[in-house]
Amino acid sequence: MEAAPTGQRSSHQSVEKGRSRHKIPRDVETDIAYLYEVLPQLSRIFRIIDKIGEGTFSTVYLAEAQMTDGSRRMFALKHLIPTSHPVRIAAELQCLTVAGGTENVMGVTYCFRKEHHVVIVMPYMEHQTFVDIVGSLSFEDVKHYIFHLLKALRHIHKFGIIHRDIKPTNFLFNQQRREYSLVDFGLAQGTPDTQIELLKGLLLKTKREEVIPRKIVSSKHRSVPVRTPLNQKPKAPAVSPMLTCNCFMTDRVCNICLSRKQQVAPRAGTPGFRAPEVLTKCPNQGTAIDMWSAGVILLSLLSGRYPFFKASDDLIALTQIMTIRGSRETKEAAKTFGKSIVCSRELPRLDLRILCETLRGLRSWDDASLPAEFQASRNPAEVKQDAGSPARKRMSSGSLRSIAELQEMGWDKAPDDVYDLLDKLLDLNPATRITASMALQHPLFKDMTV
Ligand code: ADP
Ligand code: MG
Ligand code: ZN
Repeated sequence: MEAAPTGQRSSHQSVEKGRSRHKIPRDVETDIAYLYEVLPQLSRIFRIIDKIGEGTFSTVYLAEAQMTDGSRRMFALKHLIPTSHPVRIAAELQCLTVAGGTENVMGVTYCFRKEHHVVIVMPYMEHQTFVDIVGSLSFEDVKHYIFHLLKALRHIHKFGIIHRDIKPTNFLFNQQRREYSLVDFGLAQGTPDTQIELLKGLLLKTKREEVIPRKIVSSKHRSVPVRTPLNQKPKAPAVSPMLTCNCFMTDRVCNICLSRKQQVAPRAGTPGFRAPEVLTKCPNQGTAIDMWSAGVILLSLLSGRYPFFKASDDLIALTQIMTIRGSRETKEAAKTFGKSIVCSRELPRLDLRILCETLRGLRSWDDASLPAEFQASRNPAEVKQDAGSPARKRMSSGSLRSIAELQEMGWDKAPDDVYDLLDKLLDLNPATRITASMALQHPLFKDMTV
């Protein structure tokens, strides 16, 4: 840790006064006030400025602190869902402390805890949203991006960490500064020989029970999630029953809350980034699953389309993979890890270069003979009718550039090497899929220092 943050505010009331109220939406203000309330020690160090991320398992805030040398620094405060299992939280922290702070992996500055509220303090990294930049990246930008993602993966895999949730929102990217940082070890698991002590046996502990995921609740609607045994399918969070406890809206902790056991909320990764062996629930999953996800990111970068696979569940995700990689090939690969897939229709394997170049607008659709699934985003006039659809978003970030623009961005000269690397990352068979350290040796990166 560098210069320690010093106390700059004596109470959170003074922070309230100092904030320009009109700029921050009401609900964000409420959430910031709630965070100061549950972790009062934060107010002595940080001025929490805004909410910058909100998922099912955490909320991330931007905060400023005055350092001992007088300088001001920005931090990201990750407030974990209070029902996270203590081992899960400690494991996330251990990944950051042991493997983070170098090689494009986010480090950690500090951690605060009061009762079941935990905040992980990290250096703030300014970054762009992937969907905003994916269509504007040059070929060189893409090569840099994937190179730096592979570096981060090589690094964590060396420690025996399987990230399990590799996707653009967990790989922060600053386009101007060409800075990259892998975040979010909330789903990480260990390889059998992992160097992260707390990842050992984590699977055992998290498999026993399953809890309906829910957002961090503000004091105004504090309630206890209902547990579901593993053999029961958890219901969708929006309609899940909630038991309101007796300390709801009070400053006491009631008996219901006191008797709550530690809760576990196993997280599913994002279907569109999941490897075939994950989608088919193969029990032997290794670091190769992260390499597949890196392949899906490269597919987005090369085609200019994000999200590339937009699947609401695992079966749809598997079908989308077969649409690109071929149904026969997918079935054969699944056989190698002991799974049998039945598919009603034969789907041919697509040429990755033709696929990406067509989607990007470098090739005519008529030559490509892409399957019907891709035709939806073909004609801008068609797409305009449905302005809010994902296809529309993909159009605006991807294919509306002129050929001249695409040439200027180097897309007409993208070497076969990049499609060869993509093919090796999207290897359906985890046993032969390229590793991060092998990928960094790929001819594509011959002019880059590994
Ligand atoms: P979750 O488990 O809820 O997905 P993450 O750790 O992925 O939490 O953080 C959620 C979001 O918060 C990220 O996608 C990113 O936009 C932002 N974020 C997280 N850590 C940082 C950081 N150190 N600097 C800047 N932004 C961050
Ligand atoms: Mg995340
Ligand atoms: Zn209670």
